[in-house]
Amino acid sequence: MSTTWHVLGAGSLGTLWATRLARAGVPVRLVLRDTTRLQAYEASGGLTLVEHGEAQHYAVPAETADSTQPINRLLVACKAYDTESAVARLAPRLAPGAELILLQNGLGSQDAVAAQVPQARCIYASSTEGAFRDGDWRVVFAGHGFTWLGDASHPVAPIWLDDLSTASIPHEWSTDILTRLWRKLALNCAINPLTVLHDCRNGGLQQHHCEVATLCGELVELLERCGQPAAAENLQQEVERVIHATAANYSSMHQDVTSKRRTEISYLLGYACKVAGRHQLNLPHLNQLESRLIARLQSLGLPSD
Ligand code: NAP
Repeated sequence: MSTTWHVLGAGSLGTLWATRLARAGVPVRLVLRDTTRLQAYEASGGLTLVEHGEAQHYAVPAETADSTQPINRLLVACKAYDTESAVARLAPRLAPGAELILLQNGLGSQDAVAAQVPQARCIYASSTEGAFRDGDWRVVFAGHGFTWLGDASHPVAPIWLDDLSTASIPHEWSTDILTRLWRKLALNCAINPLTVLHDCRNGGLQQHHCEVATLCGELVELLERCGQPAAAENLQQEVERVIHATAANYSSMHQDVTSKRRTEISYLLGYACKVAGRHQLNLPHLNQLESRLIARLQSLGLPSD
């Protein structure tokens, strides 16, 4: 019998992973927030994944953090700001040699979790897959993509990557996962906050070329200072390519703001500004962008952290 995957957080990505693993016959259990959510889940009968317009139902078993079964493999699929507290509740259940796979966007939450559970191996992931919830326990697989996984402190790939192949989850083991996460964070910093401040689709930033270029210059300085020169290479060109290629889309931060959801600002632009400060690097435009974004979030009554 292969090792059970515990999936912490049955939101968009958690459901996307849990349903594909379950349908491939890999043992999966969901870990839900509390008994109220568990009862609601059990009443609904399981998870629904909508793929190519077709809904499939999966009766994945679920529990709360209070269950006692040891956890050997934990897929952490909460938002970055929920991760530390959610993992803390499971720490006593982690078996010796347990492995955590951290799906969070941005940076900061992964290191916080790794420090919290030094007995476990923490694998960081960066994904271009896209999914959203269109109902409770129901997720639409919106964008096929790829997931890179890696462990900055231990380059050897885990054997359970076979489970991902069996479940047809496109993935690759990466020996430079931090570079990937930093590059994605930089792209996010150059695009997402401006789409909120200018209230536009990604393509709208073509009218703000100079502002984007100035931010890219500062982000390159930051990446180089952080020992991430590969993540800095041709950053501005890639930012412009992404703006052009996704011109009709609203960024994830814009979507969060429009839906009155908390953003992950502290793990994206906030993290970049914090690290710049730690390196005593003066990046006035990036800092000003953060202040403007915080002010905008506050004016909309949204959390600014
Ligand atoms: P999401 O849909 O909001 O799902 C997060 C889930 O975590 C929710 O179901 C929430 O429970 C659950 N949760 C929070 N605290 C918990 C706790 N203490 N115990 C158990 N469950 C808990 O978020 P998401 O879109 O999947 O995003 C997850 C991460 O992946 C984010 O960092 C995001 O940036 C990243 N990401 C997402 C996508 C995407 O397309 N969605 C793509 C790439 C990266 P409730 O249901 O009870 O609220």
